[in-house]
Amino acid sequence: MKILIKNAEIFLAGKLVKKDLLIDRKRIAKIEAKLDEKADKVIDAKGCCVFPGFIDLHAHLRDPGQTYKEDIVSGTKAAAKGGYTAVCAMPNTEPVTDNIASVEYIQLRAKEHGSARVYVVGALTKQSMGEEISEMATMKSGGIVAVSDDGKCVQNARLMLSCLRYAANFQIPVIIHPEDYALAGKGQIHGGKVATQTGLSGISGLAEEVIIARDIMLAESAGARLHIAHISTTRSLELVRAAKEKGLPITCEVTPHHLVLTEEACLTFDTNTKMKPPLRSEKDRLACVQALKDGLIDCVATDHAPHADFEKEREFDHAPFGIIGFETSFAVLYETLVLGKKMDLRTLVDSLTIRPAKVLNLPGGEIKVGVVADLNIINLKEKTLFTKDSIVSKSKNSPWLDREMSSRVKYTIVGGNISYQDA
Ligand SMILES: [Zn+2]
Repeated sequence: MKILIKNAEIFLAGKLVKKDLLIDRKRIAKIEAKLDEKADKVIDAKGCCVFPGFIDLHAHLRDPGQTYKEDIVSGTKAAAKGGYTAVCAMPNTEPVTDNIASVEYIQLRAKEHGSARVYVVGALTKQSMGEEISEMATMKSGGIVAVSDDGKCVQNARLMLSCLRYAANFQIPVIIHPEDYALAGKGQIHGGKVATQTGLSGISGLAEEVIIARDIMLAESAGARLHIAHISTTRSLELVRAAKEKGLPITCEVTPHHLVLTEEACLTFDTNTKMKPPLRSEKDRLACVQALKDGLIDCVATDHAPHADFEKEREFDHAPFGIIGFETSFAVLYETLVLGKKMDLRTLVDSLTIRPAKVLNLPGGEIKVGVVADLNIINLKEKTLFTKDSIVSKSKNSPWLDREMSSRVKYTIVGGNISYQDA
């Protein structure tokens, strides 16, 4: 199959360059000023940009076990609609992805029916119970890219040290969801001024920070590779800065919602503003934006966390934490950060492509001749109304419902095949 993309602005080495691009046998075969090859499909991408496919290090596909929320087919379709060509599936499925058979199930399903590549993250502890180390070495031989108990956090420092030593031994990166349960308590939103105003119970930033401080120390002692999920506070960033300055192999990610929204969003009592970690203060948000810009935060990850309407449409205290993210990630970031003049387009695109690829040593993330054709085509000027009906994900739990989005994904191409096409 040959695909010829004509008249596009192609993102090459950080710059947009007007060229044509030919995909042949799954790879990018030619990038030239003008191409007139015969192709099975010609895409006139006038007015659009071609970016490397986005890579998401943090997604919940809910398959197996909670397929009423999402499954591998719907989840990867939603990912492709958002311009993603690869996503990492977190292991908090039912049963938990803590063994090779579960890893293989996800890989096979994704390979046969997925619209994006799926990399599997295995559990750090058995059933993510935080009691016993998982069979991570066996899972690594099956192709997991990292281990994590995401959604949960190992509270026992001694066990965490053992996990990190074990992971270090087999050179498996460990992704942490930093949350001290005692400090987080039954908190619903950020423990700041909006918690005081609304009477909703707060989660102190300390709940995140003490675990980050602990795990940096433990990872240093174990010689492990640590990746911190969804970082969200100013002090967490200071801890990461100190660790990086020391030369420790520590990386971190931030979600689109922590870059775009603050605790103020919770004043609506919309349960789609309830997530973990909670939306923080404006000061924290700005610190995260700056840290992403200067490279202290390595990349953006969605933490796509689907929940059904009947679960989210409850009193705030009883609704589950989390929101979907694939289909809005680029658009909300482009609007707030690039159009809002907080960072340039290159920094944003790198944060979604080459930078996450580097964190877990994944393929992809750039456009050049010879690489596998994982890319998307986006019109940055076209608006999209983001409605419930337009959502491809099985779940609709987004704080951006009925909002106009700046930009529109026109095509997503994975391995030279069109996996999403705007109707
Ligand atoms: Zn998490």
